[in-house]
Amino acid sequence: MYKIMTAGPTQVRENVRMARSLETTNPDLDVAFVEFYKETCDKLQSMLHCSGRAYILGGEGILGLEAACASLTEPGDRVLVLDNGIFGKGFADFVTMYGGEAVLYTSDYQRPIDAADLRSFLEKDSDFKYATVVHCDTPSGVLNDVSEICPLLAEFGILSVVDSVAGMFGEYLNFDESKIDILCGGSQKALSAPAGLTMLWVSDKAMEAMESRKTPVAAFYANILTFKTYYEDKWFPYTMPISDITGLAVAVDNAIADKDILSRHEKIASATRGAVTKAGLSLYLEEGYSNTVTVIEVPQGVTDRQILDTLKDKYNVMISGCFDVLAGKVIRIGHMGENANVDDMTLTLDAMDKTFADLGVKLNCSMKEEFLNRLR
Ligand SMILES: *Cc1c(COP(=O)(O)O)cnc(C)c1O
Repeated sequence: MYKIMTAGPTQVRENVRMARSLETTNPDLDVAFVEFYKETCDKLQSMLHCSGRAYILGGEGILGLEAACASLTEPGDRVLVLDNGIFGKGFADFVTMYGGEAVLYTSDYQRPIDAADLRSFLEKDSDFKYATVVHCDTPSGVLNDVSEICPLLAEFGILSVVDSVAGMFGEYLNFDESKIDILCGGSQKALSAPAGLTMLWVSDKAMEAMESRKTPVAAFYANILTFKTYYEDKWFPYTMPISDITGLAVAVDNAIADKDILSRHEKIASATRGAVTKAGLSLYLEEGYSNTVTVIEVPQGVTDRQILDTLKDKYNVMISGCFDVLAGKVIRIGHMGENANVDDMTLTLDAMDKTFADLGVKLNCSMKEEFLNRLR
């Protein structure tokens, strides 16, 4: 088995894996399951300070992004797609797929969206039904300040869809205060359950927008409205993946019990960035680093493949490369959720020190030693 230090999926704790093997009931017919599902959703709601409702959908993280766009978009709707990263831009596909007109607001991929610049743009054009924004855009690791961006959108009467699949539980997030309308999360990042579930948090305003559509939602699986009365009706739109949800519920309890989860992410991320730069490697971003992932430029003279393969084959550590416009350009360490612990990061940076030595890349210092120094 490899030590998984990828930018998601992350490591899964034993109690989560065990919960997935518990005896199951019929989740369609047993009301105890409906209660259990609701309790888990209620916990998710309170963890992210949401006075709307939370739902768990059977389907990997991408389902949440598609469901948000499918449920809000009507043919001809103008949608503002905030694009300073690969996932950010990707929202345009979901918007157009459901008949919307995606208007890209593109800004520098190496820094967060500047709210003042966005305001100037909106002062000229704010005729959008909703806007999409990514909290942590994992390919670059950029962290957008949704607590500034979403209230700004709300000021212009624009609903907000936020992808925080790789931000939530590693970075602070407050749904109500940030005036978010639909928030998308996934099971396999900082929550550290296996891939397979999407979590959605939905504001009353977003629910009203869906209910006042003139045309029906052009999807079934990706239609958030089908979940609206599940609790009153004791009826889900499709059979819920019960074992995935029993596992997720334990991961939720783990996160609730983990009182210093955010400060630990912050400490580990900042020591990692410090160690990487002291060693002479370059971070991809100029500013706006998420504490869930560190993205490092591939140094001259080697390829991402050589680094990733040596780490994996010789030292048994798996980290991520990248794709799309960043393919081959960066490598990524995912220090989120269960991965965010000093022992695993020490092991990872030690393996990286050795890998770079093997490949003839000279570092100015040991990243492992520098990481540990910075935590003292
Ligand atoms: C991981 C992730 C998702 C989920 O998508 P997959 O690529 O299928 O894992 C969505 N958005 C962001 C920002 C993510 O990091």
